[in-house]
Amino acid sequence: MNKKLSVEYTIVQCPSHITVTCPHCEEEFTLSLEEAESRVGDIFDPIGDIECPECKEEFEVSGWELD
Ligand SMILES: [Zn+2]
Repeated sequence: MNKKLSVEYTIVQCPSHITVTCPHCEEEFTLSLEEAESRVGDIFDPIGDIECPECKEEFEVSGWELD
């Protein structure tokens, strides 16, 4: 007997980086997840400032969205 077996699979939603637009100079840049977390802690509950690599100004993160 060749019974077809079935399983569930897991859809992995794994963020690897964030993109953010600097509110000072309007430059969009990318941070790896490690860099972002070193700045804001939990990326889903960000506390802390990000420094723009372009103009070196700091700004805070008010929220996030999934791509
Ligand atoms: Zn900037």
